[in-house]
Amino acid sequence: MREVTADPESVAYCGLYCGACKAFLIEKCPGCHKNEKASWCKIRICCIEKKIPSCAACDEFQNPVDCKKFNNIISRIFGFIFRSDRAACIAQIKSIGLDGHANAMAAQKLHSIKRR
Ligand code: SF4
Ligand code: SF4
Repeated sequence: MREVTADPESVAYCGLYCGACKAFLIEKCPGCHKNEKASWCKIRICCIEKKIPSCAACDEFQNPVDCKKFNNIISRIFGFIFRSDRAACIAQIKSIGLDGHANAMAAQKLHSIKRR
């Protein structure tokens, strides 16, 4: 079992914090960046193609909500069920950087900023 630690490498391309995700902690998932099985995810593919660590560094969309890859139907359903707000995670990365986001999420043991 892994411990929750503050690691910018554990910030997913979509802004979620894998470092506090149950699947990561019980070593069932290596985290978004290393999870080659997540070939279904257009966000992950897009960020890898752009060579950026997350959508916070996107050169096309200031607000990822305007991007159809980021704001697709599956992610909207996922966000509704889990009350997760990945756009708020991206906004937090823009505001305090990847390190700051990792620190904040690890301190609260949060996988995602919660939808209000
Ligand atoms: S939705 Fe995509 S970018 Fe976000 S954690 Fe999952 S695989 Fe990574
Ligand atoms: S916001 Fe959209 S276009 Fe920009 S990096 Fe993310 S998935 Fe790609």
